Parts: sequence; structure tokens; C-alpha cells
Amino acid sequence: MPEPVITVRKDREGMFEKRHPWVFSGAIRQVSEGVANGDIVDLRAESGAFLARGYWNAQSQIAVHVLTWREEEGIDEKFWRARIERAIAGRAVENARHKAGTPNASRLINAENDGIPGLIVDRYADWLVVQALTLGIDRRKVELTTYLADLLSPTGIYERSDVDVRAKEGLRHSAGVLAGQSPPDLIEIDENGQRFLVDILHGHKTGFYLDQRQNRAQLGEWLAADVAVRDKTVLNCFSYSGGFSVYALASGARRVLNLDASADALALAKQNVALNGFTANDDDFVVGDTFEVLRQFRTSAEQFDVIILDPPKFAQNQRQVAAAARGYKDINLLAFQLLKPGGMLMTFSCSGLVDADLFQKIVFGALVDSGRDAQIVARLTAADDHPVALTFPEGMYLKGLWCRVW
Ligand code: SAH
Repeated sequence: MPEPVITVRKDREGMFEKRHPWVFSGAIRQVSEGVANGDIVDLRAESGAFLARGYWNAQSQIAVHVLTWREEEGIDEKFWRARIERAIAGRAVENARHKAGTPNASRLINAENDGIPGLIVDRYADWLVVQALTLGIDRRKVELTTYLADLLSPTGIYERSDVDVRAKEGLRHSAGVLAGQSPPDLIEIDENGQRFLVDILHGHKTGFYLDQRQNRAQLGEWLAADVAVRDKTVLNCFSYSGGFSVYALASGARRVLNLDASADALALAKQNVALNGFTANDDDFVVGDTFEVLRQFRTSAEQFDVIILDPPKFAQNQRQVAAAARGYKDINLLAFQLLKPGGMLMTFSCSGLVDADLFQKIVFGALVDSGRDAQIVARLTAADDHPVALTFPEGMYLKGLWCRVW
């Protein structure tokens, strides 16, 4: 059966050559009658030529999320199962390169980047956590859950669609069990041989910052090998549940200070430090605002060998980019000032609107103001299980620099 047709404005047809999966409402000329939000639609040129097929939402600025560019590819059960299987098969490389065998926590489906716009699926041991970011996925989440369960046989599938972006799709927050058993309060995962407790019910995102897995492992490797950094006192700013800290301790760091605005995150960080056999001193877990605490350290002339800056997304939209840039500059300037000569800075931005180029310029500005010298030793990005579709540059949100400071 042919799908309902959405006709695209002639002056916008050309952009379909770029195969970007988002079609904005401004590109739409005409909508066939009776199309409901979430329905599968065909995008056609005024000439009637097929352009793409996807799901429709009149409430969203992204009127259509494209699912296929091939006219012969119908959106049916076979399609969804094949896309899910393809995404999971693509994680085989990631699994093979993992230090301790198959990682038991990883991103299985990375939305647009895996050809399933709006769907995130993360695995934590025997549990799956699903985020439905769009109405088109929300409407199909039970169906998609069935396919995931068939393929992976998890103990349970839990939904964490309690994210504000859903408002742009006309959706409210949604969370709860989608299939199988209710998850326990905390799930233990193994990441490169480090153990972490993940709170999939209340933690940030789906419970853990899986995108930083390889960077955490890199930090551990580099610190273990770096003879120039002797004492290895580490300041982990925006530490969340202590991810980078556990690796730093495992690599021989003398002291690791965790700094986060969330007392809950730090309580979990403390548990994670202890779980890996290290002593968790209360003094090493500081609830506070990084901007303020770094200033206090500067006043008291505190110095560190290694500083990690992994702040939350400062720029949610284009209007916030300038303020975000000031924020990044501020914390990076302070970090440069607090590092001992020969010390290392690991600094990140996960704001998609601040690209790698701009981020490097901001860090450069901070360095110049600090009066220090620094070298970029490595450039960092998200872990391999967060692939980026070449047609979707928005997928490239996480960027980081590993710098030696003199
Ligand atoms: N590096 C972590 C993830 C960091 S997420 C990991 O590997 O798991 C960002 C963290 O910054 C969150 O835990 C959040 O609570 C914290 N945060 C946000 N604003 C903050 C601020 N102004 N000062 C300190 N922490 C902040």
C-alpha cells in the first residue's frame, strides 16, 4: 500500500541530495489528508518523484525523520528488525577490542547514526535501557521493545525517556518498565576490568556516560605510563559517579579528588571507588560548583598533576553558544593555572554546537590568558559504540583535548 504523500517545496528539493535525516517543516509544501502524527509518509518532489520515506510529526519543527532513501524499502517489521540487527552487528568490532572481552555496558543503538532516528538503546549487563526521543519512536516503542527482546533476551527493558527534548515533539517525560523484570536499584557493570554501579532508574542519561569509556581507559593508560607526572594528584571536575577517578586510581594516582554539583552522583562515586578496592575518604568527594571551587583552589594556591574537565552540555541552542564559550574558557583558564609544570589537562565539550575547531580556539584563549604553555598531545572523541553517520554531523558532539601544560 502506498504511504501518504508529503510534497516538498521545489526550492528545497536540492537539499535531499545531502541525505540529512531531518526534514524541517519549512520544506513542506503540502500534506495529504488524514496523515496522523507518527505515521509513515513518503516525501515527494512536486514532479511526484520519490525523495525519502520517514515518520511524520506536525507538532515538531523536524516534520519528518527520514528512515530510508530507497523507494523499494517499506517500513514494516522486517525493516525495524533489520535496522536493529545491523546496529548490534556493528558493535562487534567494539566488543572485540575491549580489554576484558565483551563489554557488558555499551550503546547498542545510537539513533540517527544507526539509521533509527529518535531511538537510543544502551545495555547494562542483562538490562536494556531505551530512550524514545521522538513521537515516531514513542508510538512504536512497544513494538521495537519486542524486537530487542527477541534478539537480545535481556532480563528487562527499562524506558528512560525523561528528557526535555521530547517537548519539542509534543511529548511528556516517560519512564518505566517496558518488558521483563523491574531493574534493581543499582546494576553492576564491568568496563575494561573496572567495576561500576549504575543507577538506571535515576542516574543521568540512561545511567552512565558510556560515550567516555575509551577516554577513561586512555586516561588510565597514559597516567600509568607517564613518568613526567610524578605524584599524580588528580582533580576530576564534573566527576559524576567517579568514572575517570576509578581509572586514575587503578593507574597509581596518589590522590583523586572528585568534584560534582550533585551529592547523589558523589555518593555513587564513593561506592564505585570502594567497589574497586580503593579507600574512599570523605575529603576526596566535594559537592560544589566547579567554577567556584576552582577559584577557591587558585586563592589557596592548590596545585594538581592532572585535571579532568568533563562539563555538561553548556550550549543547548545557538543563542547559548557565546555564553557556553565563556564558560569553557573560564574553567580551562582556571585549570591551566592550577596545574603543575608537566601536568596534564583532559578537557572536553559535549556541546554539539561548539565544534572541535571552536573548542580548540576557546582552550587556546584560556591558555594565553593563563600565561602558561601547553601542547595538544591527543585529540579525543566519543567511544566507538557511538558511531557518527556521515550524513549527520550533529552526531559528532563530544570532543576533547589531552594537553601537557608547562
Ligand atoms: N565524567 C563523567 C561524566 C560527567 S557528566 C563520567 O565519566 O561519568 C557532567 C557532571 O557535571 C554531572 O555529574 C553533573 O552533576 C555535573 N555538574 C553540572 N554542573 C556542574 C557544576 N557547575 N559544577 C560541578 N558539577 C557540575
